[in-house]
Amino acid sequence: MDLLELEKLKRYSFEIGPIRPPSEGGSHSLLIRATRNCPWNLCKFCYGTPYNRDMFQLRSVNEIKRDIDAAKIIRELLEIITKKLGGIDRAVGVINPHFLQNYQSVRNVFNWLCFSSRSVFLQDADSLIMPINNLLQVLRYLKQIFPNIQRITSYARAKTLTQKIKTLDKLKELQKAGLSRLHVGLETGDDELLKYINKGVTSEEHILAGRKAKEAGFELSEYWMPSLGGKALSKQHALNTARVLNAINPDFIRSRRFLPHMGTPLFDEWMKGAFQLLTPHEVLKEIRMMIVNLDITGKVCFDHANNPAFRLDSSYTWLFKQDYNGYQFPEEKTKVLNILKKGLEIDESLYISRRFI
Ligand code: SF4
Repeated sequence: MDLLELEKLKRYSFEIGPIRPPSEGGSHSLLIRATRNCPWNLCKFCYGTPYNRDMFQLRSVNEIKRDIDAAKIIRELLEIITKKLGGIDRAVGVINPHFLQNYQSVRNVFNWLCFSSRSVFLQDADSLIMPINNLLQVLRYLKQIFPNIQRITSYARAKTLTQKIKTLDKLKELQKAGLSRLHVGLETGDDELLKYINKGVTSEEHILAGRKAKEAGFELSEYWMPSLGGKALSKQHALNTARVLNAINPDFIRSRRFLPHMGTPLFDEWMKGAFQLLTPHEVLKEIRMMIVNLDITGKVCFDHANNPAFRLDSSYTWLFKQDYNGYQFPEEKTKVLNILKKGLEIDESLYISRRFI
């Protein structure tokens, strides 16, 4: 079969940033890089390391549009190949061997195509920092080129959402233009801990930002980090995180247990003994304290590999389901508390250590 398109595909690519939330991987979102890296780079547990600590850069609207155009051509070529081969299932066997190792953008578009091309994620760490009119142009262009898109999502810093220039009306305009879900790194609702980790935002600002995002009509995912306060701040971390999340009432709360990451200031403090990690059972007790005090109507998710996992025979298993829609609250709150109870009955030595992960 003549598949000249396979060779043509190799000529096209677009820029893809290093990370996206796990749920966007699960949704096989098309990745469009709206900005490069993180405009803050100073959180003690992260330090911009996922972006190699590279300097933040805005991208021009034209540059982003060129990437969207490239994604369109790649999709069209993939559609031709798929049609010639008689369907996606048969195309997988032909396309994957050609593009498995390199050609990240072709792989991204092919996965996107295989899963109905419904969702787009705007990279990198804080697309809301773009001038609103530029972001509006990008959103409108995306919808124009790919009219079947149902969801466009992005990371957003709470601090950026609180900026006066990001008025409620402007945020509503972004939502109407297609930006449907925001992923915000809350990490903790405790002011002492927010200061310690250098998040650059207070708990009041977190609440303001979260409520503003919801009022503008966005679906809101808030990420918190069990164990981030170590032994010293565990209790206040749990209680104040529940307090702030209750005040925001986000659609999704996503748990991502803190583990020290090399190249960050918090890793160095941990190595020197100035920061003490919780034991596996202490982590579960902290999650339990947060959950007991949580009073929201939304989904509580544990969709990250860092969440508690334990050895079972020769394999290992996560304590909570890894589902991107997690547990519906308040209906499944008791279920989550029961899982935690069972988790506390499992010997601590069976939990997967930081080194293993
Ligand atoms: S804002 Fe996000 S990406 Fe930037 S340093 Fe903090 S945690 Fe890392």
